[in-house]
Amino acid sequence: MKKDKSYYAWLRNMLTLVIILLATLPMLLVGWTSSNYYQKYDEENTSNGLRRLVANRREIISLFLNNHREILEQLMRLHNFDFLSQQENLDRVFAAISKSGVIVDLGVIDSSGRHIAYVGPYKSKLASRNYANTDWFQEVMINGTFISDVYLGYRGVPHFVVAVSDPLKRWILRATINSEIFNAFLRTAQVDPKGDAFIINKKGELQTPSLLNESESQIKDKNIALSYHEGTLVRTANDTVYVSTWLKDGDWLLVVKVRRQKALETFLEAKSINEIIVLCASIVIIAIAVLMVRFIVNNIEATARERAVLDSQMVQMEKMASLGRLAAGVAHEVNNPLQMITDQAGWIGELLDEEETEKVRHIEEYQQSIQKIRQHVKRASSVTHRLLGFSRKMQSEKTAVDINFLIRETISFLENEAGNNQIAIETQLEAALPAIMTDAGQVGQVLFNLLNNAMDAVGKNGTIHVGSRQRSDAVVVEVADSGPGIRPELINKIFEPFFTTKAPDKGTGLGLAISYNIIQKLGGTIKAWNREEGGAIFTVILPKNNLGD
Ligand code: ADP
Repeated sequence: MKKDKSYYAWLRNMLTLVIILLATLPMLLVGWTSSNYYQKYDEENTSNGLRRLVANRREIISLFLNNHREILEQLMRLHNFDFLSQQENLDRVFAAISKSGVIVDLGVIDSSGRHIAYVGPYKSKLASRNYANTDWFQEVMINGTFISDVYLGYRGVPHFVVAVSDPLKRWILRATINSEIFNAFLRTAQVDPKGDAFIINKKGELQTPSLLNESESQIKDKNIALSYHEGTLVRTANDTVYVSTWLKDGDWLLVVKVRRQKALETFLEAKSINEIIVLCASIVIIAIAVLMVRFIVNNIEATARERAVLDSQMVQMEKMASLGRLAAGVAHEVNNPLQMITDQAGWIGELLDEEETEKVRHIEEYQQSIQKIRQHVKRASSVTHRLLGFSRKMQSEKTAVDINFLIRETISFLENEAGNNQIAIETQLEAALPAIMTDAGQVGQVLFNLLNNAMDAVGKNGTIHVGSRQRSDAVVVEVADSGPGIRPELINKIFEPFFTTKAPDKGTGLGLAISYNIIQKLGGTIKAWNREEGGAIFTVILPKNNLGD
């Protein structure tokens, strides 16, 4: 039975596993590959979009810078040094180009670095300055043009300087540009509200404020690559997508920061919906697989068990039937010689009666002998009668059965073995027990099984108690023993087919299963429990009118 149970448990687990794998694997595989594919697709799409956005901002800023350099170059082409050195001329030109407020001041510087004329808010500070030793002056004198980094200046407004020289490097026109306009350009590049967009120079100094108000050190900490790269670079680090491009001939780096979560927003949303669907589907599939397999395997198991019981019952019945036929044959064979012996003994008795008693020396011994022959023949006859009765019971049919008689008869079969093992079989049978319509052969088989088990449980030196009584609607038979009883955890198992605690050559585990089946078919019940005083007790209840069949 144990092997059987583990087989069905194995079958249950295997089938569940196979169904779950077959149902979920393709789903997971498709989900996983499509998710990977869409992630790549979305990442590419997003980084292309970001790349375009940043390239576009670079164009606008470059255009703005070139535009202001060109304004100065054009002024130099239109007016010569002498003209613009005159303060009133410079004032007029400045008034014309500074209307938008982007150009803050304008200055004319000669080739020795002296500020010849100046118009703007820092007149007192800058008018008489000499720039000969400054870096920017030297660069303009070499390259003909210069655009500075952004600085706050005296008024605390961020601005930068654009300076150009005439082709012969005789004089320089220098303008200060308010760089706040950059902030507006960058604001439109901030696609993620929690992201950022800013410009830094080669040293990592902010040229425009971080939109998230991060400081330079915070930005540097985040390890934004300042290394030079061509075109627009998209990198992902610490769950942030950095898009950067160099502008102003590699002086400034425009950086746009977007959280990866925001960049892949649509994909991540679709992914989590997908995951929820896959999870729900998997749970449903697993639940259905477990329930379905359990149902199917339980049914198979129950059918197999029923078959096993029926098969063994058939075998048992076959055996009993042939035993019955044998018994009937033996009884018939023995009955005739017994009849003969009785007749002959009677004949000898009659002849002795006719003899003169004083002439026969041992007449009394003869008469005693005949008496003994009659007595033993009677005993032998009762045995053959019992055998004939037993054989008749082998045919399964319902007759009026005296349960007390059946109990006594079954005990008589086992009495000898019980006596050999010093087991006393006590009976307490209700005298007025009515006969009930039932199958004597099958009930006899149940009683035989119960008594046999009781004897096995007791072993040697003990008692078996068999009782019968009636209830309003049923007859109750109890078989109790003084054995060790049934372990509580096994009480629910003992009626299962093939369950046995006995040695393989002693027990088949079928006795109680067959008994259970028989009693159920006869409309009764059979139960087992342990007695308080020790030992097991089995109660069989059989209906008086047998409505159950
Ligand atoms: P088998 O006798 O071949 O083992 P049964 O179906 O008759 O098969 O009994 C199943 C098991 O029930 C026994 O192995 C035993 O463990 C337990 N059992 C049956 N009767 C008794 C009893 N009177 N006392 C203790 N245990 C019992």
